[in-house]
Amino acid sequence: MSNETRRILLVEDEKAIRDAVTAYFERENYWVTAVGYGKEALEEFGKHHFDLVVLDLMLPDIEGENVCRIIRDNSDVPIIMLTAKGEIEQRILGLELGADDYLVKPFSPRELVARSRALLRRVHADSEPQREVLTFGDLTIDVSGHKVTVGGKEVDLTASEFKLLTTLSRYPGRVYSRMELVEKVLGYDFEGYERTIDSHVKNLRAKIGDNPRHPKWLHTVHGVGYRFEDPTKQNNGQQQ
Ligand code: CA
Repeated sequence: MSNETRRILLVEDEKAIRDAVTAYFERENYWVTAVGYGKEALEEFGKHHFDLVVLDLMLPDIEGENVCRIIRDNSDVPIIMLTAKGEIEQRILGLELGADDYLVKPFSPRELVARSRALLRRVHADSEPQREVLTFGDLTIDVSGHKVTVGGKEVDLTASEFKLLTTLSRYPGRVYSRMELVEKVLGYDFEGYERTIDSHVKNLRAKIGDNPRHPKWLHTVHGVGYRFEDPTKQNNGQQQ
């Protein structure tokens, strides 16, 4: 499969990085709109359709995290955050802002392109032709419609959170390690990114109203990872 000119909005104030990343994406046949300011980014975003946003956290005008929030309030476009070393710990991975992935500078443009491709692939792989709706108590996941509701109220999830939820809930009771989830949810095999899963789980729990101390759906398996439970099955019986 080709990239059939996916449009990327690149927001990076350092010209050298902006030019190198643009050149790399263009070589891979992506269409890049590159800007250096948050304000420009929001203007471009309002005017055109983009398949992916690559967003630097530290910008000269509007902070990257605010740009991310504004975009996220209006769209579920995949977002990759670029951060300098040290910023990420303070901001707990940047994923809490609604970004789907992040890269710490200095990064290789090649890795950024690989991550972008993986992110786009899994976002588009989600659009399956058959309607699939999973129900677990008052949690309903419309897999094909990309819609999650809790008690009839729609919950706004990012692409990564949605993928995480569908991955776990397809096999209730099965334990997934963080590494497995990194591969399935983030779409790449990269050591050291297990913590991003914890962050996604945390956001997901907050959004669907699952208490980590007494989880209804998303259970932590200490030292291993996570598993999803169907609360109606737990209540109904011990018979296996
Ligand atoms: Ca910057």
